[in-house]
Amino acid sequence: MTNQQPHSVNLQAPLTTLKGVGPSLTQKLTRLNLHTIEDLLYCLPHRYEDRREIKSIAKLPVNEVAVFKGIIRSGDEVQVGRGKKRVFEVLVEDDSGQILLKWFHYRRDWMKRRYQHGANIIVVGEVKFFSSHREVLHPEVEFYTGGDLPSSQCRILPVYPLTEGLSQKQMRKFCQQAVSRYAEYVTTHIPPDLIQKHQLLSLGEALLQIHCPSQQSDFNQLQSGQSIARKTLVYDEFFYLQLGLALRQKGRQLQRGKAFSVSHRYTKPLVAMLPFRLTAAQRRVLGEIKLDMMAPHPMNRLIQGDVGSGKTIVALLSCLIAIENKTQAAVVAPTEILAEQHFNQFKPWMNSLGLKVALLTGSTTKVERQQILKELENGVLNLIVGTHALLQPSIVFHDLGLAVIDEQHRFGVQQRNELRKKGDHPDVLVMTATPIPRTLSMTLYGDLALSVIDELPPGRSPIKTRVASDSKRRAIIDFVRKQLDMGQQAYFVYPLVEESEKLDLKAATEALESLQQELGDHYRLALLHGRLPAQDKEAIMQQFKQQQIDLLVATTVIEVGIDVPNASLMVIEHAERFGLAQLHQLRGRVGRGSAQSYCILIRSPRCSQEGRQRLEVMQQSNDGFFIAEADLQQRGPGEFLGTKQAGLTDFRVGNLLRDAQLLELARQDAFQLVEQPNFSDKTEYALIRQTLIQRWGKRLELASVG
Ligand code: ADP
Ligand code: MG
Repeated sequence: MTNQQPHSVNLQAPLTTLKGVGPSLTQKLTRLNLHTIEDLLYCLPHRYEDRREIKSIAKLPVNEVAVFKGIIRSGDEVQVGRGKKRVFEVLVEDDSGQILLKWFHYRRDWMKRRYQHGANIIVVGEVKFFSSHREVLHPEVEFYTGGDLPSSQCRILPVYPLTEGLSQKQMRKFCQQAVSRYAEYVTTHIPPDLIQKHQLLSLGEALLQIHCPSQQSDFNQLQSGQSIARKTLVYDEFFYLQLGLALRQKGRQLQRGKAFSVSHRYTKPLVAMLPFRLTAAQRRVLGEIKLDMMAPHPMNRLIQGDVGSGKTIVALLSCLIAIENKTQAAVVAPTEILAEQHFNQFKPWMNSLGLKVALLTGSTTKVERQQILKELENGVLNLIVGTHALLQPSIVFHDLGLAVIDEQHRFGVQQRNELRKKGDHPDVLVMTATPIPRTLSMTLYGDLALSVIDELPPGRSPIKTRVASDSKRRAIIDFVRKQLDMGQQAYFVYPLVEESEKLDLKAATEALESLQQELGDHYRLALLHGRLPAQDKEAIMQQFKQQQIDLLVATTVIEVGIDVPNASLMVIEHAERFGLAQLHQLRGRVGRGSAQSYCILIRSPRCSQEGRQRLEVMQQSNDGFFIAEADLQQRGPGEFLGTKQAGLTDFRVGNLLRDAQLLELARQDAFQLVEQPNFSDKTEYALIRQTLIQRWGKRLELASVG
């Protein structure tokens, strides 16, 4: 937003440009991540104080900052209790009543001179209830004479985030200064019709209204972040992000891709071989994928579907369309266990269709690997399933037609791109089981088309979930035993904290031993964790699938994708250490067969009240979207997503929770705008393009635009 400024005005100037800001203050402001004038302008108050209304003393609300006036009836130091402790107390009175003002830190003589009987004062402070009376600690006080009130107090004041050694007063002063000197030079470029449609202000006016609200402002709107001024800033921020995403999507649409035809040569026989009927949702999503694949530009589609909704088979059918068109397909999964599972599932089907599939992971032997590389390159292999290993530069396809990424949330955007580069504009399908609230997917996956599998296969009864305290262990063990005796299988999950993996492993091993003791010798238990060699992992999974193991003690390696329908009980230890979305993923390992499934979340004795409430959500709902929304509310986007993908959600003013509606509007507008003929080269849009590159060019890799 640095376009079109006179040369003398530099919004990127350091804060020392402001009067009163020296090196020591600069340091403090740095702690708040404020470095430049522009940073300060965009450091918005997190709330406001309404000092316009003078309340009568009798009606002062408790625990709220309020303004009142009165006459001093007494002012003196008093002793507290029997010790040496002293406070300074001032008694103020108006027509309605009296209230005490108290100071713990003060200079006695100065206070005595200042607070004299009969003086008129105006007071700002938070009223507290203290042993049967109301009082105000360390209030702000201003004196006035006669009937005129000082105007300085009768205002709406911003309240800023602070750091040690920086007072609210100072912060207000700096922001005022910054606004009055610089706000008018902050500019943006939004098409006039959109400004009109949403009644947006200029950025300068918006900043002014936010930092220095006028007396006439609507206080509630300000306080709840709904003022048109704040909306202007948020819209501006969202609009440009969405514009970038829209251009990315469009850029791909303009690329030439493969226009596949749908012959049903392999898909039809596969559907006939399935032991079930596809759900309506699966068929609808497949239809959307087909249309994309038939179009002459590359597909970029995200499939979202709750755990167990049957995404895998949709992926395989899509692969078969690519194969029908004599190209190859690849499926990438985030863990070896999952890649293996997909491979084992696909292989018999592929064989009976006369097609060739291979598995490539970090543990594939050298000899096998060489064979696979050869067959990939000469086109003998139709389908390859693998882990990150598939992204290596040495992997070369004969002709990659479709790339599928399972559990996309475990990969970064970059890895998506690497895979894409392995073909000549191949179609790309990404799948995620972590339900992502719409606001987040509009930013993270904003350049992808979206398909949702919003239906579970029939015959599944909802998983029964209970949160239990550790003291109920005996009863839980009895319950586990009962389930195992009925021929069901179970998972016992322990959280692993990465930094102390060794220690945790020890804990998990010990847990296995004590669990074996608690349950009894004749149950078959095994431990599965990420550090096991690949063959061992696979062997254990196979045994578990073939019901040679009754109970699997596991770390979160089983979090994604594992599908063993006979397992119907999941116990999660230290459940409060997991995020809700992750718990939902874990829980999704059961409830895949026809038996009633259970999930028991054990909270440790140390679990906080807040932690308990969080876990309650799991008991209330089996709906991944509901849970994801709650998780996002509780933890915020940064933690919800983990660090890997947070880059796109680091908004300066926008808030994905609060401003979901604005995001939606901004998205519609931006996507419509890029549909304008010649958006990318018309001079009319030059400033918009320039602003876009400045703000998002790097993060969205938009260098080629404009
Ligand atoms: P996810 O969407 O979590 O990846 P999967 O693809 O692993 O789910 O499917 C979960 C289970 O449901 C698998 O055992 C799969 O074979 C089965 N399944 C998939 N589609 C259907 C269907 N239409 N009817 C019945 N079972 C299905
Ligand atoms: Mg899956």
